[in-house]
Amino acid sequence: MTSNPFPVHTWFPRLWAEIAPIGRDPGTGGYLRYGFTDPVRELERWFRGVAEADGAHAIEPDGNGNLIAWYGPPPERGDAVLLGSHFDSVPYGGGYDGPLGIVSALLAIRALRHEGREFRRPVGVVAFAEEEGSRFGVPCLGSRLLTGALDPARAAALTDSAGVSLAEAMGGRPAGARPELLGRIGAFVELHVEQGRALVDLGAPVGVASGIWPHGRWRLDFDGEANHAGTTRMADRRDPMLTYAFTVLAANKEARLRGAHATVGRVEVEPNATNAIPARVRGWLDARAADAGTLEALVEGVRAKAADRASRDGTNLTVTRESLSPPVEFDGGLVKAFRLAEGVPVLPTAAGHDAGILAEHVPTAMLFVRNPTGVSHSPAEAAEDDDCAEGVRRLADLLAQLAAG
Ligand SMILES: [Zn+2]
Repeated sequence: MTSNPFPVHTWFPRLWAEIAPIGRDPGTGGYLRYGFTDPVRELERWFRGVAEADGAHAIEPDGNGNLIAWYGPPPERGDAVLLGSHFDSVPYGGGYDGPLGIVSALLAIRALRHEGREFRRPVGVVAFAEEEGSRFGVPCLGSRLLTGALDPARAAALTDSAGVSLAEAMGGRPAGARPELLGRIGAFVELHVEQGRALVDLGAPVGVASGIWPHGRWRLDFDGEANHAGTTRMADRRDPMLTYAFTVLAANKEARLRGAHATVGRVEVEPNATNAIPARVRGWLDARAADAGTLEALVEGVRAKAADRASRDGTNLTVTRESLSPPVEFDGGLVKAFRLAEGVPVLPTAAGHDAGILAEHVPTAMLFVRNPTGVSHSPAEAAEDDDCAEGVRRLADLLAQLAAG
């Protein structure tokens, strides 16, 4: 090691300030960075500029909207170390979710190069496309296309709220699965702002993820009978709003009993009139648990309670599973490599990430940086510069262990 360590603490705020204004709504401070729109294009231009200035020998678009900057020897030997995350945000989201992983990866590489370390393995930084799914409705769009988890023809036809197709937004159909590109990658590490308060409570600036909870979405259709709010006797009603309301409370209780998470964050009512008993209420249950068995028991528990209540309300319940993501366990070797650094706690996470998609194909790990508010997907999302610098340092240390001579 050189006696001239790279001043990450100085560099992190500088680099961060360069991208902070891009796509930020001046009114709320929230970010509007949707896939394949001007703010993300601008972030990608910035990314290219930094990577090229820092000695990247190639910037490779993968045909699926993902962009990889390559350093070190040419990535052909199946042992490349890939770092990175995503630039896009949810509507009015925070600035850290995604971009922190890309900026930290660029800085980790800059730090090692500054300290005179040469890469003996190829090293890449990836900017994944449309991770949040805010524009085209499919989360982890870029990583799903790259790994073949999403059919490119189906993806090409996805449309945004203005009716623009993904193919139009991309300027062509996505390439789909790239097994030869995946085959060049020997490890993937995504640094991410923590979406919760575990690290605050532990008093630790960074943590390493053990895995991702299995999670899914279920559509709940409650059908009743539309009728007049004034003239229909209470005893004669078949009101699906009652069944729905009971089910939301039951979901909360069933989740608490199991140490799991259940949320109903979206609801549609027909006809949605103040003076009418609804004909139908449609709600979406988002459920997550530490293991697949608990998740199944949770959803079954909610379904059974809702069905029982429906029979008493004279309504009908239909439960349709819309998606299910299996549990992800991160690579034991990589998790251990992070843990060897003193005081790095191991945490599970209940949020989906590109790392969860990559983990099925490549040894993968995630590093979390403390978020003092614990809030994410909101302008209140936060991270201290010192903690971000610590994240860069941990990432650089791992990269040095894995890839530097
Ligand atoms: Zn993210």
